[in-house]
Amino acid sequence: MMGERRVAQDALFYEFSLERHVPVDHLVRSVDRFVDLSGIRDHLRPFYSETGRPSIDPELMIRMLIVGYCLGIRSERRLCEEVHLNLAYRWFCRLGLDGAVPDHSTFSKNRHGRFRDSDLLRKVFEMTVRRCLAEGLVGGEGFAVDASMIKADANRQRSVPGSEWLTPETASHAVREYLAVLDDAAFGAATPVVPKFISDADPASRWTGANGGLAFFAYCTNYLIDLKCAVIIDVEATTAVRQAEVTAQRRMIDRTQERFGLWPGRRAADAGYGSAENLAWLVHERGIEPHIPVFDKSQRTDGTFSRDDFVYDRERDCYICPAGKKLRQRQKIYRMPRPLVDENGMMRYRASKRDCECCSLKPQCCPNAPARKIPRSIHEGARDMARDIAATRRLCHLQA
Ligand code: SF4
Repeated sequence: MMGERRVAQDALFYEFSLERHVPVDHLVRSVDRFVDLSGIRDHLRPFYSETGRPSIDPELMIRMLIVGYCLGIRSERRLCEEVHLNLAYRWFCRLGLDGAVPDHSTFSKNRHGRFRDSDLLRKVFEMTVRRCLAEGLVGGEGFAVDASMIKADANRQRSVPGSEWLTPETASHAVREYLAVLDDAAFGAATPVVPKFISDADPASRWTGANGGLAFFAYCTNYLIDLKCAVIIDVEATTAVRQAEVTAQRRMIDRTQERFGLWPGRRAADAGYGSAENLAWLVHERGIEPHIPVFDKSQRTDGTFSRDDFVYDRERDCYICPAGKKLRQRQKIYRMPRPLVDENGMMRYRASKRDCECCSLKPQCCPNAPARKIPRSIHEGARDMARDIAATRRLCHLQA
């Protein structure tokens, strides 16, 4: 049977409650439970004038931005339309049925002005982490770190080769200001390598093919995650280059200690964070166990012995080769003393030419050299620790 519309059009007064119309399992209700923005007014007070017309409520703007971030609405113009039309979003933003939605341009003005000057978004983030701490969701004993690539809104056609880009002397004031940001260790100063292309519109983004497909301009968001309930406890944006990600990881660990008093006993990450310098920083300077695969290029593929086949003897500071001979740092006495560590922080352990000459294993060890050399980083102790941890975990896994 065909139904017909039964809405009465003649009522004069309506009773309507937004509270009743937002489903109990709607995402915004779950988010709302953990959002406490009571502190942002005091934080922002010095950035508002005492006189003049009242501004748009900053809490409303932050709530709208949270809707945008959680629901994947990237355009602020569209965000304003969605909040205007969607009852659940209105409920979350405390707008009621007839509250006015601000103009989209308000967001960009505030983001580049008060929000940036007052570091408001970080304040909101840290307020949320504090709430997680208070609820017992953060263990603080083990952290993981990782980075996600974010595609920049920059076009390859509007870029120039890195070697031809503007120098600070020839740049305008606006570009010079931008260049100052690029001097940050998390951006342009992360590596001396000149990128293949630089975007004129967005020079802080990095031309990268790290995803394995076609290269593009990108940023990275780096996350420090507590391992108890996978709560993100710090975040930092960098350009898309590994050195910048390692810098961001150090900053996040130090900042988490400073802001929340959290000091992890162990840290997990992928092999990109397993350079000798970074492992040494974690182990020797911060006392953190590295649960990180060691970044090691010493593995040989031509069938000759790799460095793993030589055993380091810590007591005697020498390597023992597969034939049981010692490789020491110095086999010769020089008239002019030479430094034991080179400019890259590497030490060389050498076998005796006499031992190698008569060794039956020479074809598998050093077929093209009179004696075998093993380079060792000054940070090798930290790398050994990371290897031992990985081996222990593998052993536990096998025994289980
Ligand atoms: S060639 Fe030299 S370093 Fe290599 S196994 Fe023989 S003695 Fe040891």
